[in-house]
Amino acid sequence: MFQVSVDETFAAGHALRGYRGKCENVHGHNYKVQVTLEGPSLDSIGLLYDFKDLKEAIQCSIRKLDHQFLNDVAPFDAVNPSAENMAKYFYEEISRLLETAAPQGNPGDPCTVKRVTVWETETTTASYFADGTRTRNQESGVRSQESE
Ligand SMILES: [Zn+2]
Repeated sequence: MFQVSVDETFAAGHALRGYRGKCENVHGHNYKVQVTLEGPSLDSIGLLYDFKDLKEAIQCSIRKLDHQFLNDVAPFDAVNPSAENMAKYFYEEISRLLETAAPQGNPGDPCTVKRVTVWETETTTASYFADGTRTRNQESGVRSQESE
């Protein structure tokens, strides 16, 4: 398997709902987001996925959060804007952008989002990653093998 990762940063404010402590108050972070893609094959020039295209996808998913009060921005107007929920948000957004983007590498072995890590401070991170089944095709493949 090959993996590529790109980091991006943005600034935003939030307040954790239901939290007892300083983080229930409005405050801000300089967030860092790291997105890691994984796939089994490279394209004709030896790339898993163009860093530039991954950077653009991350920037696209950051755009509506940058310099905003996250509690007012969907889905964080309903879902608590914790680093964990933000990692899941970026995982789903980047996965959706990859699915709609032009296929890279071998179209039969598309790369997928392996993991997203969000830094809330230099020393605190939260990650979200797929639990085994990476794509619908592979998931159904596993099921068909089990039924044999
Ligand atoms: Zn915070």
